[in-house]
Amino acid sequence: PSVPVSLVPSPGGEEGATWVRVALDVPLAGLFDYRAPAGARVGQRAIVSFGRREMVGIVIETPVAPAVAVEQVKDVVQMLDDLPPFPDDWLKLAAFAADYYQRPLGEVMLPALPGPLRKPAAYQGLRAAGGPVARLDARAARAAKPKRTRRKKDQAPDDERALTSEENVSASENAEATSALPPVSLPTLNASQQEAVEALSGLSGFKPVLLHGVTGSGKTEVYLRVAERVLREGRQVMLLVPEINLTPQLEQVFRRRLEAIAGTGGVAVLHSGLADGERLQAWLRAVRGQARVLLGTRLSLFTPLPDLGLIVVDEEHDPSYKQQEGLRYSARDLAIWRARDRGVPIILGSATPSMETWHHAQTGRYLLLSLPQRALAAEPPRIRLLDTRNVKLQQGLAPPLLQAVAQRLEKGEQSLIFLNRRGYAPVLHCDACGWVSGCPRCSAYMVLHRQPPRVPGGPGRHELRCHHCGWQQRVPMACPDCGNQDLQPMGRGTQRLEEHLGELFPGARIARIDADSTRRKGSAQELFARMHAGDIDILVGTQMVAKGHDFQNLGFVGVLNADAMLFSHDFRAPERLFAQLMQVAGRAGRAGTPAEVYIQTGYPEQPLYQALVRHDYAGFARYALRERESAGLPPFAYQALLTAEARELAQAQAFLAQARAWTERTDGTDSSQAADMSRITLYDPVPLRVVRVANVERAQLLVESDSRPALQGFLRAWAGVLPGLAATARVRWHLEVDPLEI
Ligand code: ADP
Ligand code: ZN
Ligand code: ZN
Repeated sequence: PSVPVSLVPSPGGEEGATWVRVALDVPLAGLFDYRAPAGARVGQRAIVSFGRREMVGIVIETPVAPAVAVEQVKDVVQMLDDLPPFPDDWLKLAAFAADYYQRPLGEVMLPALPGPLRKPAAYQGLRAAGGPVARLDARAARAAKPKRTRRKKDQAPDDERALTSEENVSASENAEATSALPPVSLPTLNASQQEAVEALSGLSGFKPVLLHGVTGSGKTEVYLRVAERVLREGRQVMLLVPEINLTPQLEQVFRRRLEAIAGTGGVAVLHSGLADGERLQAWLRAVRGQARVLLGTRLSLFTPLPDLGLIVVDEEHDPSYKQQEGLRYSARDLAIWRARDRGVPIILGSATPSMETWHHAQTGRYLLLSLPQRALAAEPPRIRLLDTRNVKLQQGLAPPLLQAVAQRLEKGEQSLIFLNRRGYAPVLHCDACGWVSGCPRCSAYMVLHRQPPRVPGGPGRHELRCHHCGWQQRVPMACPDCGNQDLQPMGRGTQRLEEHLGELFPGARIARIDADSTRRKGSAQELFARMHAGDIDILVGTQMVAKGHDFQNLGFVGVLNADAMLFSHDFRAPERLFAQLMQVAGRAGRAGTPAEVYIQTGYPEQPLYQALVRHDYAGFARYALRERESAGLPPFAYQALLTAEARELAQAQAFLAQARAWTERTDGTDSSQAADMSRITLYDPVPLRVVRVANVERAQLLVESDSRPALQGFLRAWAGVLPGLAATARVRWHLEVDPLEI
């Protein structure tokens, strides 16, 4: 209704019209038919009305006739032609993802686009002026002009020719910037890097390659060399990384090296921290082929790239490649599919590959290339296990760990204490009656947090916070059950550790990096910068410090509370623990002085820790894969997880029970049942470990198969019946394929 009349196309009678079948971002299976003016094309976007709303959709088909009665078909509100139609390979990628992860096509395609491209409002009203793409292009043209006029006055005459096309603008910008950059001096590759680069350069067509090398072994240098080659061949490179916000150095390295070939603006960066306009701009540059390198987090996977020639997935084992809501996809897995579809090589890099990837490399499906040594002469850190069973801990810290920190302080070297638990203490407790600080809305404890004092130097306050639902409340003055006024924090989080270290090392400069201390925009960068500048002696940190940063003067790493992950209910926890500890250890000793890593544990004889001391990833993987194989777990089986949420647990359980019962009703001979049930195992529905979050009860049902096609066939049929079950009305449910956490 708010659409200016001039923007509404007039279908012009039945002869001039075509039918379009459109994917929309709605939680309904199937596509939706509309009447469009002649000339509508597959891959084009359109604004249509759906229910009482207007939405942007993508044309998937142009059928000869609509699927419903012609009188019921609505006119398209507006065909959008500010972009060429999406290319076939992009449509195919989205269709594959929708089918594999069992989601409606529109729920895959539209969220993958920069915000302004999927909002009707961006095209409506007077201020819309041709839509977001046109506005961005106009702004770019305006920005290019004044610079020209300014230069005209004081520049040589041969620079005075008028600019007529955008190509000219970017071409001359490239020339300027490239000559302004100091020449990049390339390190001489060591023998294993050389071998890796040669092997990678010899590849043509699809080939997954695992580049296995410890932190600091020079994997980045290998990516750069191969990327440079691909760029020189005139093709584009997609480089996926787990996180960018925290590591601006990484972006700088790639820009500096690759823009020397691709030109200024030749490297586009995409991540969720960008504003809508910035994201659209980077996306457009990549889609139009102006950017030759796309560097980004998992969401960049869905960017159309006309000349894609190479995909790199750095830290391929990192869980952040998996999206945990909406379309629960693995960007790494889809990247492999995309590389196969486009017939290009893909490099998966890691010091601690996922068991899935390692298994493929062992069985020859992936090519394995190794960088066994650190690139710079630095020795690998010495890892030592501190047995905590028979020692008296001081505030949770073993004496040798404290001595090591003291020694490094004396030598002017930095220490890092790694504790993956934020807050002051995980729970508040009453010694008199056993009361604990449970969350009123969740089946979980509320964590004690120290608040910064209201006035500088004033008293710090405490507060209880639930990490599951965000509920916050003041610390009770006395036990709510028995009135005892002496409530005690139990256990230790990073805030309390920071406080203790302050008491133990009064002269030291101590800082903390975790999700709480870095909430404010820019504060993480500030803290990392202080660490790099040597303004911090002892850093307390969670997994946030494990990623990406090389600390030149870091001589010691202490690890606390690692055992908690060793005996987790999650079968992937050991794999994650090993990766995390290797990564934390890798932060240290880059400068040349041998660094030390001490791990406090009550189980030093555990094979995981023993392998860690030897820096023996392969040994750990052999052991872990043997366990997985005998237990019939991934990568030797394929899984999917059906999760239900409801007001009452019984409702969630009832839905899962009906979902399971449906599979028992069919015997596999029924022709409507595509799945081969003999290869499918359905487990009993069980409540989640934290069963209630924000007053919602949750339960899940695990499905397993030894065959991916069998599982896919089953899921396809199952996803079709789940919406129609009697119990569905009272639950919210989702199906997750290849879940990372179960
Ligand atoms: P990774 O990505 O495996 O962690 P990097 O590629 O970041 O390792 O390399 C670690 C450090 O070693 C970087 O400072 C890098 O510049 C340097 N480096 C890499 N390869 C070489 C080489 N062949 N000669 C000298 N320095 C190198
Ligand atoms: Zn009490
Ligand atoms: Zn809660």
